[in-house]
Order: sequence, then C-alpha cells, then structure tokens
Amino acid sequence: MSESFSVPAELEPALTVFKVRVLLVDDQLIIVEAVRRMLSDQQDIEFHYVTDATLAQQTAGQLQPTVILQDLVMPSVDGFALIQAYREDELVRNVPVIVLSAKDDPKLKAHSFAVGANDYMVKLPDKLELLARVRYHSNAHISRLQRDQAFRFLRESQKNLADANIELQKLAALDGLTGIANRRRFDEYMAVEWQRGQRERQPLSLLLCDVDFFKIYNDTFGHLSGDLCLKKTAAVLTEHLKRPADLAARYGGEEFAIVLPDTMLEGALKLANSCVQHLEKLAIENPQAAPFGVVTMSIGVASVVPSPHSSIERLIESADQALYAAKKAGRNRVVSA
Ligand code: GH3
Ligand code: MG
Ligand code: MG
Repeated sequence: MSESFSVPAELEPALTVFKVRVLLVDDQLIIVEAVRRMLSDQQDIEFHYVTDATLAQQTAGQLQPTVILQDLVMPSVDGFALIQAYREDELVRNVPVIVLSAKDDPKLKAHSFAVGANDYMVKLPDKLELLARVRYHSNAHISRLQRDQAFRFLRESQKNLADANIELQKLAALDGLTGIANRRRFDEYMAVEWQRGQRERQPLSLLLCDVDFFKIYNDTFGHLSGDLCLKKTAAVLTEHLKRPADLAARYGGEEFAIVLPDTMLEGALKLANSCVQHLEKLAIENPQAAPFGVVTMSIGVASVVPSPHSSIERLIESADQALYAAKKAGRNRVVSA
C-alpha cells in the first residue's frame, strides 16, 4: 500500500528532522495514480495511500503522516465520520486533514471544517496548488512536533538535573572515607535538633569519640591501615544507633560525634559504653598502645535541654572536656560532663 515506511519520528530519541509524509485515503485508484504523479518529482515528499477506508485510521496511526488527503465518499466508510474518528484518536488527533472532494459545495466545505478538517480542495486540484497546500499544512505540523519534542527534552533534562542535584546534596553531606555524615552535616543537624529540642523541651545528648593512640597505630601500620581502622570505628558507632533521628558523623581526623535527640544522659552513657566495649572486642591490634594492646576509643558525653541560656558551642565544649577527662583517666572509657 505504501512506497516506504520508517519508524515514526515521534519515537526517535534525538531531535528529529521530520519529512513531509502524505497519506491519501481514497477508494479510486485513478485518483491515487494522479496524486502520486503530481508528487513524484518532489524529493522531500513521501507518498503513501490506502484505498480501503476501514484501514485508514490504523494506517495513519502507524505511519504518522504530516498531512492526510481525505476523500469524502467511499463505499465502506463515510469521510466525515472518519475525520471525526481521527480527531478522537490520540495518535492521529493533530495530523492536518485536507479534504479532497468531488464537489465544490459550500455546505460540504462547512461541514468538513466542522468535523475537524483543516482544508478543502476539489478533485483533481492543480499540481502547484496541491503542493503548496501539502507543504503549508505539513510544515505547520512539523513545527508543532519539533516544539513538542523540544519541550519533552527540556522537561527530561530538567528532571535529570534535579536528580543530579539531589545526588550531589547527598554526597556533599557524607564523609568520603567512612561514608557516614561529615562535619558539615553534623553542624546542620545539630542546629536543627537544637531548635527542635528547645521547642519541645526535650534533652539533646552529644557523644564525642576519639580513637586512642591513633598516631601510634598509623606509625606502626601505615596510613592505609589507619584509614581502614577509621572505617571500622565508624561502623561500630553506626551499628549502635537505634532511632532514625540518631546521627553519627566524622567530626575530624580520628574523632567522631554522635547526636542523640530526645535522649537523656543515662541513655547516652549506655550507648557510649556499648560502643567503647564493642571496639575493644574487635581486637584490632595496636601493640604499642599500652596497656590494652588493641585499638580503643574514649568518649565524652554531654546532655542538655536546649534553651536560650545555653548554646550548641557550650554543649560541644562540655562533651570535649569530658572526652579530655576520659583520656586523662586512662582512655578506653566513657566520661560524662
Ligand atoms: P590520643 O589517644 O590522645 O587521642 O592520641 P592520638 O595519637 O590518637 O591523638 P593525636 O591527635 O596525637 O593523633 C591523631 C592521629 O590521627 C594523627 C593523624 O595522623 C591521624 N589521622 C587523622 N586523620 C586521619 C585519617 O583520615 N587517616 C589516617 N590514617 N589517620 C588520620
Ligand atoms: Mg584526636
Ligand atoms: Mg586520638
């Protein structure tokens, strides 16, 4: 039924160069022949036809012509009804339709436009006029397709950009070595939880953890082993978090912090002791670290109900002082502020 068939331009992924593609729907082969001849010397125009009107709608859907030349009087189907069917068909709805009618009748013309036709010509039209109208309607249709495609690409790239931004934001909050929250995320989180604790009058607990004799560990086993040890330490801390609101972060070199919203000192101390014991149990050798001979850590714990009389800085300072006390008292232990 047609001379050539390619993938509908709509389905192609990249910006498409659309060709003028004519679909003639007419039961008379003599008309088909005449139109074919008029278009035959136009390199940029593809010509297709159907003589069986019952196949017209389906063919148009598959072929995606840039213009349909539509006969009105056919044996099986009424031309007006067919045009209406095109207009209700998702795939064909926007394809321009030029009626090719045997009669030059104003009533038929008016009715054609009323059911959704875009133009009306009397058979057989002059070649120049046919070409001009075919090109005019096809180009308008192609412009719309290109505009729609450009919008789709734009929406798609906007969505990709938004996804990439979310991914970047996640990355920007994570510590590259251990994969837990970084200092920046810690600062943000503390600020949010401080505000919340103040509103809800709930205690906020903070643990500052520091690996004991870590410089010796590095000196003994090298920096790469040191890095691995930090990853293990981070894993110990995150394993002990129970609530979604608890946050473990890398505070600095071999120092970590744990933020525990809505948690009183007692609960925070319990968690801190579990972490200390867990790390010791891992028995990561650190032979020169007397008296334990394995990697351990010290934790300072502080707890406060946030209020305007206190501050995040003071809470951190308290935890830091407790950490210092834990170091002085012999390391591998927990001290509360
Ligand atoms: P203390 O028990 O008093 O905490 O002694 P320490 O040796 O752990 O403390 P110090 O602050 O003297 O040394 C910390 C070491 O941690 C020194 C530094 O090279 C090491 N360090 C900091 N960041 C990293 C890191 O990302 N990777 C490795 N491998 N080492 C790190
Ligand atoms: Mg340190
Ligand atoms: Mg240390």
